[in-house]
Amino acid sequence: MKQLVINNILVEIERKKIKNMYLKVLPTDQKVRISAPLRMPEDEIRRFVLSKYEWIIRQQRRMQERAENKELNYVSGEEVFYKGKKYTLKVIPVENNVGVTLLDDMLLLKVKPNSNIQMRARILNQWYKEYLMERIPELITKWEQIIDVKSSSFVIRDMKTRWGSCNIRTGKICINLRLAQKKPISLEYVVVHELVHLLEGSHNQVFKGYMDRFLPDWRTIKKELNY
Ligand SMILES: [Zn+2]
Repeated sequence: MKQLVINNILVEIERKKIKNMYLKVLPTDQKVRISAPLRMPEDEIRRFVLSKYEWIIRQQRRMQERAENKELNYVSGEEVFYKGKKYTLKVIPVENNVGVTLLDDMLLLKVKPNSNIQMRARILNQWYKEYLMERIPELITKWEQIIDVKSSSFVIRDMKTRWGSCNIRTGKICINLRLAQKKPISLEYVVVHELVHLLEGSHNQVFKGYMDRFLPDWRTIKKELNY
């Protein structure tokens, strides 16, 4: 995708067979994306972006704030998510056996008495990762058979802008750690999405056709994920 910097705003330009220009600010990283007709001159795109300048800045600020508010301080009473369900965080100091336990609608985070945010985050993330490490191989095996592709390996990463990625050349799949917080179907959708990339690298009509065939409900799931 072509990128332009217009008045200090980084803009991604996607050329499509459309009549009008569309602009959106992506919620994951506040990037500006323009969908423009195939032959629209760059000057016209520039003018369009500048005419929406105030609105873009406002949107970016609002989304940034929302993203920041989601960052945890790892103190009791905060809302945390696991498999799409909301839990109330309760931090419990322990000398041994640090880790996570679920109790009704509470997520008990057992940490050393003098632990800081980073140490608490590491314990919760490790627990998220264990769930994904168990679930993802099952999903990959299931969907490789259905889609009839073969991936080489997978990794779990804490990513800010993407739910997953697939290296088509090496067959390696990358899954976002934060999917442990989302509904299981969202995790499954991302696995299917990345495996389908082994058939089709871009998000074109062919790709969408495969998704319709393998996971007919994918548009709803994707919308909920904001992907
Ligand atoms: Zn993709």
